[in-house]
Amino acid sequence: MDMEPKPRIFVTRRLPEPAMAILSAFGNVSLWDQVETPIPRDELLRGIAKAEGLLCLITDRIDAEVIAAAPHLRAVSVMAVGYDNIDRTALAARGITLTNTPDVLTETTADLAWALMLAAARRVVEGHRLIERGEWGPWHPMQMVGQDIYGRVLGVVGAGRIGQAVLRRGRGFGMRLLYHNRRPNPSLETELGASYRNLNDLLIESDVVVVTAPLTPETRGMFGAAQFALMKPTSIFVNVARGPLAREDDLAAALRAGRPWAAGLDVFEREPIGPDHPLLTLPNVVLTPHIGSASVATRLRMATLAAENLVAVLSGQPTPNIVK
Ligand code: NAP
Repeated sequence: MDMEPKPRIFVTRRLPEPAMAILSAFGNVSLWDQVETPIPRDELLRGIAKAEGLLCLITDRIDAEVIAAAPHLRAVSVMAVGYDNIDRTALAARGITLTNTPDVLTETTADLAWALMLAAARRVVEGHRLIERGEWGPWHPMQMVGQDIYGRVLGVVGAGRIGQAVLRRGRGFGMRLLYHNRRPNPSLETELGASYRNLNDLLIESDVVVVTAPLTPETRGMFGAAQFALMKPTSIFVNVARGPLAREDDLAAALRAGRPWAAGLDVFEREPIGPDHPLLTLPNVVLTPHIGSASVATRLRMATLAAENLVAVLSGQPTPNIVK
């Protein structure tokens, strides 16, 4: 009896073993067998030629050329919640289904937003560096003074899953909560006590601004010189969404001028950034290398969920994670 051939799956990086096991049990898997190094473009174009399913990462640009090189492709699963690296129009034109990994990374990413917020406000990294340089002199009343977070005003731009998780933490810090989305969300007002503001008013009123909106044509460059000029000279700007939402040159100039007072950034216009990046010359920034979702448990769950999503779509099973 002829066996139905297993669907061909291409994976752009070696994922943790539980995710690889899910894929191998279902399909005929080939992969870019590296853990740290992204797949070169020509390898991606070659690797995807016979694939019905693709599991990819945020470092892979899945554009019209890649999709044209994959005539059998039926499903793309990205191990991330954001999918700004994927040409959805080109996928839709071919009827290819896209899935992502929402929810499982929400709390972990909100934790990192808070880590950056507290570190920037209380000069944690600056203090560490001072000790490292052997420059910790005698205690004095205004030594390394920062900004309070407790009891201040928290403004979230893009109050979806992650943004709401950031706001919820703010309640424990006695903060007044503001948010800005494209339209007000009444349940945020009733459940979290968060008040809607237009973007300008949110920037004017907030002591901390946390950005958690997706990168879209509308949000690209949303934070530039004009927006930073509205912020308080004591305020903290945190971006855990995507780098291109903020114009980095404008942000560096604004931080140099002291408005906002400090920034915590996990994402950048072009990643990875090097040690020569202009933001690193400023004392009032805390930078992390795009590690919003990077806890052991969350990265494992994202990898297995991305594998489960791909198997579900290829086998015609329902999955809640189809990007519409
Ligand atoms: P989500 O639930 O879809 O939330 C996004 C929110 O942004 C929605 O509430 C949406 O509300 C709002 N929004 C969309 N366009 C907007 C605009 N033009 N202006 C203002 N608000 C806008 O997504 P999520 O799961 O919270 O993830 C958010 C983003 O975080 C992802 O897209 C990803 O890029 C980023 N992320 C980063 C990391 C990291 O490692 N640093 C980790 C995970 C996620 P409306 O539709 O009402 O406008």
